[in-house]
Amino acid sequence: MNAEILAVGTEILLGDILNTNAQYLSKELAQLGIGVYYQTVVGDNPERLENAIFDAFSRADLVITTGGLGPTADDLTKETGAKYFGKELVLDEKAFNEIKEYFKKTNRTMTENNVKQAYVPEGAKVLYNKNGTAPGIIVEENGKILVMLPGPPKETVPMFEEYVKPFLSSKQDYTLVSRVLRVASIGESKMETLVKDLIENGENPTVAPYAKDNEAILRITAKGKTEEDAIKLIEPVANEIYSRLGNAIYGEGDEELHFVVAKMLIERNLTIATSESCTGGLLAGTLIDYPGISKVFMDGVVSYSNEAKMKRLGVSEESLKKYGAVSYQVAEEMAMGIAKTSGTNVGISTTGIAGPDGGTEEKPVGLVYVGLCINGKVKSKELRLVGNRERIRRKAVYSALNWLRKELLEID
Ligand code: ATP
Repeated sequence: MNAEILAVGTEILLGDILNTNAQYLSKELAQLGIGVYYQTVVGDNPERLENAIFDAFSRADLVITTGGLGPTADDLTKETGAKYFGKELVLDEKAFNEIKEYFKKTNRTMTENNVKQAYVPEGAKVLYNKNGTAPGIIVEENGKILVMLPGPPKETVPMFEEYVKPFLSSKQDYTLVSRVLRVASIGESKMETLVKDLIENGENPTVAPYAKDNEAILRITAKGKTEEDAIKLIEPVANEIYSRLGNAIYGEGDEELHFVVAKMLIERNLTIATSESCTGGLLAGTLIDYPGISKVFMDGVVSYSNEAKMKRLGVSEESLKKYGAVSYQVAEEMAMGIAKTSGTNVGISTTGIAGPDGGTEEKPVGLVYVGLCINGKVKSKELRLVGNRERIRRKAVYSALNWLRKELLEID
């Protein structure tokens, strides 16, 4: 089965909103082993919408639309979908009652045009909406399937999960399973070199590399009769990759680096405080993204000026004069200073030149030092980063966290 995704909405064409539904659906369909050959966006225009639906069905067996199921006159997806199958729209009593209930529950008054949302193509499968008013719809005839879902992702995603996924997977005689390994510390090209043979020769499973923000990712995908079969096929390949890349792999799936680091600190019962210059609180903010970090995160100082570095962290005037604020020595004193004043096990610091100005030949833009003090032992590291100000700051945070992760691996 091959599929197309058709997002309906002028807002997407105008660039007011991002088509996250298409991204979500493409990922999900790939997991189900359904090939997506086209993604289309069309505005709320009856003629163009009709053309888009008819064109999509000239190429695909399955078309999934999102959006345009609302109560207003320019919401026309359902009408156009019904037209493709030559069907009338009929009132679905259950959908009507649910819409009434939804308004009651959310303490809002139902307007006359909301009744429009309870009309569905004759004989369609109705997907009742627990998170909004527009029901979703599946029409299946002559080998063609049209799935129409509402536009708001908080409605689209649960509806897909609850109804559409099981419906589509029952039509497939195999399933695709992916396992995603997330790699820090080595770049995408080095990672590719280390697992080149697996990428080139893999058939089932396949191994595909890609880059995401600061990290490299390896996706292992297997096709199996059942999910368990596919998982079993992936296992030896994943083990082989682990043996080659070692602790450069920091996590799997949706696991973000800062979550991994936060969990490691909590597991080891190590408290932490941050002192930041060029990252200006981004390091603290990133760690605090993890719910539950309050168990270990104690303090964060943005010591941007030399005065603040001396006053808040006890950095010596002599080091600042002799080595400059962007130096190994100052990074170390900042890390030690924050650990001491906050009484934490770990102190971590950043000091660098994020640009665009302020660089010199000796200390160019992108030069960053990270200081790390763990249980009284202090170290520092030099980073040479490229990119604009934002990118340099983000990369500095990422590298600092990854270095902390590696140091924590040494502590049981
Ligand atoms: P409703 O259930 O609210 O009547 P609808 O099916 O008519 O929804 P639209 O009116 O097309 O959907 O879109 C409603 C909102 O959903 C948009 O303003 C936007 O915030 C979000 N949305 C719509 N399409 C997409 C999309 N493809 N990706 C992400 N968000 C979307």
